[in-house]
Amino acid sequence: MATTLYAIALGANRYGRHGRPSAAIVAALAAIGGVEAVSPIIASAPIGPSTRMFANAAALIRSDEPPPALLARLKAIERRMGRRPGIRWGARPIDLDIILWSGGPWRTRTLTIPHPAFRDRRFVLGPLARIAARWRDPISGLRVRHLLSQVDRRRPRT
Ligand code: ADP
Ligand code: MG
Repeated sequence: MATTLYAIALGANRYGRHGRPSAAIVAALAAIGGVEAVSPIIASAPIGPSTRMFANAAALIRSDEPPPALLARLKAIERRMGRRPGIRWGARPIDLDIILWSGGPWRTRTLTIPHPAFRDRRFVLGPLARIAARWRDPISGLRVRHLLSQVDRRRPRT
């Protein structure tokens, strides 16, 4: 069995080729493979003027790929599922981010693990805490459940 464990965040905020956002998340998980645990899919209200709901989830993936190879494969899945590159914060049928991996910190120009923004994102930490509450962020030294409670203390209603 593959020895490397990844925590992946999945998000979708528009209808794509697989239908509603939660269906895109299910399809992406099937495409990624090696899924060891999946959080519930949560629906969150979008930030800004859009009325579309977002769907978010987290998964633990077992793989033998090094981080750049997994990222390349995630990007290929995003493209296949109808994502157009270049629109960074735009509506997208699927967004696949590497949040943590069992190898500690990783940093190159195109890939940073832990994901630089995950400590502030309730829509990442909430699902992740359901499957990896005790996973320790190697940068802050805090467990996922502790990072989640920090976010909740700062912004109790998001
Ligand atoms: P975002 O996910 O922040 O909305 P994108 O999905 O468009 O934005 O990603 C932008 C770039 O971020 C990717 O092309 C990728 O090279 C880079 N990146 C850096 N670290 C990570 C990570 N941990 N997971 C996914 N992408 C990452
Ligand atoms: Mg992304």
